[in-house]
Amino acid sequence: MTDLQALPKHQQYIGGAFVDSAAGAWLESYNPFTGKPWALVPRSGADDANRAVEAAHTALTSGPWSRLTASQRGALLRKLGDLIARDAERLARIEVQDNGKLLAEMGAQLRYLPQWYYYYGGLADKIEGSVIPVDRPDMFTFTRHEPVGVVVAIVPWNSPLLLASWKLAPALAAGCTVVLKPSEFTSVSALAFCKLVEEAGFPPGAVNVVTGFGSEVGPPLVQHEKVAKIAFTGGEAGGQRVLEGAARGLKGVTLELGGKSPNIVFADASIDDAVKGAISGIFAATGQTCIAGSRLLLHESIHDEFLRKLVAFARTARMGDPLSLDTQIGPVTTRPQFEKVLHYIEVAKSEGATCVLGGGPAARPECGEGWFVEPTIFSDVHNQMRIAREEVFGPVLSVIRFKDEDDAVRIANDSPYGLAAGIWTKSIKRAIGLSQRLQAGSVWVNTYRAVSYMAPFGGYKHSGLGRENGQDAIYEFLQTKCVWISTADEVPNPFIMR
Ligand code: NAD
Repeated sequence: MTDLQALPKHQQYIGGAFVDSAAGAWLESYNPFTGKPWALVPRSGADDANRAVEAAHTALTSGPWSRLTASQRGALLRKLGDLIARDAERLARIEVQDNGKLLAEMGAQLRYLPQWYYYYGGLADKIEGSVIPVDRPDMFTFTRHEPVGVVVAIVPWNSPLLLASWKLAPALAAGCTVVLKPSEFTSVSALAFCKLVEEAGFPPGAVNVVTGFGSEVGPPLVQHEKVAKIAFTGGEAGGQRVLEGAARGLKGVTLELGGKSPNIVFADASIDDAVKGAISGIFAATGQTCIAGSRLLLHESIHDEFLRKLVAFARTARMGDPLSLDTQIGPVTTRPQFEKVLHYIEVAKSEGATCVLGGGPAARPECGEGWFVEPTIFSDVHNQMRIAREEVFGPVLSVIRFKDEDDAVRIANDSPYGLAAGIWTKSIKRAIGLSQRLQAGSVWVNTYRAVSYMAPFGGYKHSGLGRENGQDAIYEFLQTKCVWISTADEVPNPFIMR
């Protein structure tokens, strides 16, 4: 039994101060490799949400943040990027302890993370309004882009600081202030990140972090009247609740939700490359990525050979301690998620899919007490089965046959989701044609799971609303004002609209 009182306690960050929750309550953060708690974070509620939003609102309207120029905001963001670069290894290790993803992946992710702050820091003072050549000779008319206001950013557990930064960097560059709510399963890195925010010199209230259960602290944040916008990444059900809460206050929302993405392999593809692409689509990050290529669509002429090679390759995957650089598949992040993945494996079996690899919890000695699931592959899946329609968010692959291009597009698009898709082919004609026909926010050709701060990211259909990353993302946090200045000698007929 772990002595909870002996665990390190991490305070939340409100109005530039590190504080406990108003109720003085704590919740445990678990290490999925050991299955044991390793840290405590504040368990916040409505009082904490109010304090954080008030701090963000004061900073936005009358604090030092509100008086910074766009260039000064950009400089602060670039400084924060430098500090993240300095501490990338330390932050990556924290995230691995919280979410069990591989240090090899989280290290690379954290070393890449500063680019979001450099990119949006650079963009901050390049957002220009325009003079409109309006159709009235005695009017000078121009536009300004102004921050939307206080932003609530809510993120899940699979890439905590990356997904937070997709929101924080453009929102701060736009001049907004932010209240970040990390996942209750992985809050420690966000609290460590606040120390860097402070060191970079951000004025109090510009960035606030409150921790706690989504059901307790989420609604008071989303529904607070001084919040203008919610930027949410998470599951479909959570996204719907956020949208409903936001609708009552007529707030703006961006949603980055789940997926059931097709990874489509044609007969003319390089089979060895496509096998690696299928592996990276579903077993990287233990399948816990929104863009997981969880439906593998194989042309019938290569189906058997491909499946053989895929199973042989996946069988070699080394599971174990995510902090070891040799490990290729780590644990599932949370106990409920572990149970959910195992449940879906049973659902697939009961639906008649054929389990050709894995199919249960991993009992390998190197997996210890952690929450590990064997890399699992189902063949003979058809697209109406639950295992082909619902997001598992784990290392479970559904393999589906197709006859020709039209059949592949029909199956790929026959999904409630539309986050991503992969195409493996040597034909440029097919690649371009298909990339236009697939209903997905990201389409990768002969690669999978590539993202960049420069490239817009988001979902079609139930996978989301709005886009993150790239130049357009900053406009998710800006609103346009049009200013009309009359240069007429006198006010014309006041009874007629001009
Ligand atoms: P989740 O929806 O359970 O939780 C996400 C966040 O929402 C957490 O911080 C949680 O505390 C909070 N939350 C829960 N209920 C809330 C409420 N009523 N009001 C406000 N906030 C609330 O998702 P999860 O299990 O943490 O993450 C997995 C999901 O995230 C998967 O569906 C995955 O596809 C999705 N995801 C999407 C993307 C993307 O960019 N599209 C990226 C990563 C993960």
